[in-house]
Amino acid sequence: MRAVVTGGAGFIGSHLCDHLISQGHQVVVLDDLSTGSADNLPAGENVELVRGSVLDRDLVDSVIRDSDVVYHLAAAVGVHNIVDKPLESLRINLDGTENVVEAAVQHRAPFMIASTSEVYGKNDADGLREDAVRVLGSPLLSRWSYAAAKGIDELLGYVHSTESGVPCVIVRFFNIVGPRQTGRYGMVVPRFVTQALANEPITVFGDGTQRRCFGSVHDVVPAITELMRTPAAYGRAVNLGGHEEVSIKGLADRIRELTSSTSETTFVPYEDAYGSGYEDMQRRMPDTGLARELIGFEPKYGLDDIIRSITDAR
Ligand code: NAD
Repeated sequence: MRAVVTGGAGFIGSHLCDHLISQGHQVVVLDDLSTGSADNLPAGENVELVRGSVLDRDLVDSVIRDSDVVYHLAAAVGVHNIVDKPLESLRINLDGTENVVEAAVQHRAPFMIASTSEVYGKNDADGLREDAVRVLGSPLLSRWSYAAAKGIDELLGYVHSTESGVPCVIVRFFNIVGPRQTGRYGMVVPRFVTQALANEPITVFGDGTQRRCFGSVHDVVPAITELMRTPAAYGRAVNLGGHEEVSIKGLADRIRELTSSTSETTFVPYEDAYGSGYEDMQRRMPDTGLARELIGFEPKYGLDDIIRSITDAR
């Protein structure tokens, strides 16, 4: 099979490429290397990097034309990118996805869209199911533009798939972490690990009581390809993530302990970190019952395993 992975030089995308290659597939990566890196990709004949943007409609069409399956992960990610470059981020996350979906449908290639737990916004229910209500702040706050765009991406993929009959799976990632994720764009775990390893203060944004579940990239990547092989998943949005809940202050403590660091924890108000008007959610926890029902998904890696996999790779 010839698989196209947009955003394949990024964190999740590059692990997906490794997995696809290990299964004997030929992989073509379309990536502009804005947050990804060619170093993330394995060397060899089974992978080709096309450096370019998903905003380039003709390029997208030519890359997807002869493909058997498309995994769309290219996106403007990270709170800093979204807040600092709202227009560019919006265009990549809306127009870029439209180009990829239209080409996949045109060439009848089944496609997967990477979405996010951000679509649930401030809903802090105990285990968010895929049909949970969305509680978003004002669309004029750029902080919510990522969630708004990803919601439209889901709809675009779903409607195109329904009308054309070309299979589509939407995957909602919940704070996926692991080796190769960079802390440069605001991702909390790699940022804390870098600070802890340097024995510098670990900077917690807000008061640190906000709670999250972190999922391992090694759990979710095989699940992505499995979902694409599962007709019952077509036309569905499926949560993927871990189950171990931790406060952000607790995360800082765990990372300090596991790295034997002497770092202190310091607290930075949201407005100093992201500017005024930033809103966060107190809790974000997935219900992964649908993924379990569809493909037997069960996360194998806990938070300590994930932190160790990151520190071992440094
Ligand atoms: P990442 O930044 O490592 O990957 C994104 C990739 O897209 C990068 O390689 C980047 O260079 C590329 N890219 C950005 N703009 C592009 C453009 N215009 N054209 C082509 N390539 C472009 O981030 P990631 O964490 O691996 O995220 C992958 C996908 O998963 C994204 O769609 C993201 O929204 C989604 N997601 C990730 C998480 C997570 O916890 N990591 C959570 C929710 C959703």
